[in-house]
Amino acid sequence: MARYIFITGGVVSSLGKGLASAALGALLQARGYTVRLRKLDPYLNVDPGTMSPFEHGEVFVTDDGAETDLDLGHYERFTGVSACKTDSVSSGRIYSTVLEKERRGDYLGKTIQVIPHVTNEIKDFIKIGDGDVDFMLCEIGGTVGDIEALPFFEAIRQFSQDRRGECIFMHLTLLPYIAAAGELKTKPTQHSVKELRSIGIAPDILMCRSEHEIPQKQRDKLALFCNVHPDAVIPALDLKSIYEAPLAYHRAGMDRAVLEAFGITDAPEPDMTKWYDVLDRVQHPEGEVKIAIVGKYTALGDAYKSIAEALTHGGMHNRVKVNVEWIDSEVFKSEEEVTSRLQGFNAILVPGGFGERGTEGKIKAAQYAREHDIPYLGICLGMQMAVIEAARNLAGIKDAGSEEFDSESGKKRITPIIYHLKEWVEGNRTIKRDASDDKGGTMRLGAYDAILSEGSRVAEIYGTTTISERHRHRYEVDMRYREAIEATGLKFSGISPDGKLPEIVEIPDHPWYIGVQFHPELKSRPFEPHPLFASFIEAAVKQSRLV
Ligand code: GLN
Repeated sequence: MARYIFITGGVVSSLGKGLASAALGALLQARGYTVRLRKLDPYLNVDPGTMSPFEHGEVFVTDDGAETDLDLGHYERFTGVSACKTDSVSSGRIYSTVLEKERRGDYLGKTIQVIPHVTNEIKDFIKIGDGDVDFMLCEIGGTVGDIEALPFFEAIRQFSQDRRGECIFMHLTLLPYIAAAGELKTKPTQHSVKELRSIGIAPDILMCRSEHEIPQKQRDKLALFCNVHPDAVIPALDLKSIYEAPLAYHRAGMDRAVLEAFGITDAPEPDMTKWYDVLDRVQHPEGEVKIAIVGKYTALGDAYKSIAEALTHGGMHNRVKVNVEWIDSEVFKSEEEVTSRLQGFNAILVPGGFGERGTEGKIKAAQYAREHDIPYLGICLGMQMAVIEAARNLAGIKDAGSEEFDSESGKKRITPIIYHLKEWVEGNRTIKRDASDDKGGTMRLGAYDAILSEGSRVAEIYGTTTISERHRHRYEVDMRYREAIEATGLKFSGISPDGKLPEIVEIPDHPWYIGVQFHPELKSRPFEPHPLFASFIEAAVKQSRLV
């Protein structure tokens, strides 16, 4: 059975608990252990699928089609372990399962209560597959003291009693710096630990986020007041790159403190070779490129977290620094504006998105990239925009558009080049849906295969003609327009195995122009950059040499 590490947060949110958990996972792996990371989110949404990216950042999609918290992206990037449905759960999901069971009569007439019914459901979730790994890391979203999180805290408390000696608690807090006093303050951490202890949880390890070195005096004080070993007070200082975290936290003693808390004395020393290499590539770039991301949720970096990371990985692969500028596609009102905003970039990326707002600007960005030989990567909606652009401006289908926008603003009588997919096959079952599913629910989600045309640029980039990539969309490019669009030079170079759904388009006569219906960014890792991103950045490097 696995050993459990529960990671909680205190004082304030956004301290980087997900990252700390991911880095700890990577450190345990480097010592030869197997790990799995899980996220337990206290909010009442059943999953983040319906939450606005402005509220919650990116929705991370797993191979098995779960829409999850973006922290699962960090877990995958740092450990290389693909997450699945059973690695992310919310209060909403737990309550909905409990209520379903109640309706079915599973509880045999009992009164349903938070303790034990809700907490048992949480414990059952935590235990899934615990025979398969050495360490299970469970991060509790939010901050200690949040009302919705109480059942989770109670469940992990009970769990640590059921499995005495096999569970530890790591608490991440903030030491604010008071400039007037010239001091880091420990009081908020003391209060946060007090709050945890009042619900029966005594942390074994304190990770202390801080903008300054934490003097020994302060660490001893924290150890004394919070009842942890002085070596278990781990400073977590601000880092320039998130990929420094495993090495920095190792130096700060994080993995050692964890092993000590479990009483493990014979652990091998970690092999950090690949992290040294990753860091060397981040810290010593040999050039730089400038990429424009033309999207809708540009005000919030977290909305395109995986894309930003995948671009960084592409940069590491090519040993260049990637400077990203986020451009709101709504700013393009005229041709001059498009040119003035987009000139000078070495490549343009149009990411995924939902809804009509800003789409005309994205179409203009695709056109600009095509006409000016600028490398273009269109992801999901970004591919659909490239197809509409070619249909309108090259194939002469002037009113080409997507049914997504038609259904939003009443009938506008467009030619639906992009249509609503209502039925598809998944394994041996056919999935159907109707218009009422539009507000969430059924999307084509998770990993699907695609077949690439022999001799295409994407086949060369991937080095194979069968690929599997993760999807999250409702609309598809209509195959009936294939001939007309291909005649313009935009080729359908990747198709679903049944030949029905276009997965990739590319312009062979352009330096680098590719649109993909899936989300390659979700599978990119620092030590295994996604081939499309590695190649896209390489194209940007070539472009930068031309100017
Ligand atoms: N809105 C588009 C669709 O549903 C694109 C989705 C996306 O970019 N993730 O098909």
